[in-house]
Amino acid sequence: MSSPSSPLDRPTLIATLRDYVEQLREEGMEGLPAGVQSTQVAQPRTSAPTAIETAASASASSPRSVELFSKYPGLEATSTLENLREFIGECARCKLAPFRKNLVFGVGNPDAQLMFVGEAPGADEDARGEPFVGRAGQLLTDIIERGMGLRRSDVYICNVIKCRPPDNRNPEPDEVASCEPFLFRQIETVRPRAIVGLGTFAVQAVLKVKTPISKMRGQWQDFRGIRFMPTFHPAYLLRNPGDKRLVWADIQEVMRFLEMPIPRRGGSPS
Ligand code: URA
Repeated sequence: MSSPSSPLDRPTLIATLRDYVEQLREEGMEGLPAGVQSTQVAQPRTSAPTAIETAASASASSPRSVELFSKYPGLEATSTLENLREFIGECARCKLAPFRKNLVFGVGNPDAQLMFVGEAPGADEDARGEPFVGRAGQLLTDIIERGMGLRRSDVYICNVIKCRPPDNRNPEPDEVASCEPFLFRQIETVRPRAIVGLGTFAVQAVLKVKTPISKMRGQWQDFRGIRFMPTFHPAYLLRNPGDKRLVWADIQEVMRFLEMPIPRRGGSPS
């Protein structure tokens, strides 16, 4: 048996650490600050890295904490969008799976400075396996291309939910809970400078708030250290074209933050 001053043997150390982590979980802690291991491990090492260290180094440049209690073990070790897509696989983690034609993961520049996050795929997106390709998607593409002067492929576009809810019903809480770790990992992987949240559902799901979009739009929020701009969903704009000017104002705010030139006149997507 080891005395208080003698080093613990490996099994005892692991058991002690496990108890400590369990205690943290019971106290409501969800992560450890990233970088802990690089500042505190002074000894040169000969052993293989632990799972926590692998996850920490895979995400060292981005997240501010290392998740201790992943819903999907191994998710934090995915380091590229391709890895992440492979990790998700032919997903059957929630009850939407049997209804989908295609899982709609996301498209665009993996190093994008700007990311758009919508709600869930509709019929067109489900058929093509690509987000925002229907009528609302055409309007989003106009905002990006005619309004911002970018190409759609310059930004990254995805949804909170990767599979189409039947009859375009709202996603349900258990579906969000199943799918949101993938969105969060997408965000951590792309690590954009700014995110535009499209519509009530996406904004509330990402920020974990209940505030209506009409109260939040146009005001910068923070998502894990990334600027997050809530605005109306393009589908809402199809029904309320008079509010396009509000979205254009929100988009101009994003452009200012990204130091993009803003057209003096016009430029606004019609
Ligand atoms: N609406 C969304 O929220 N996402 C899509 O991909 C298409 C329509």
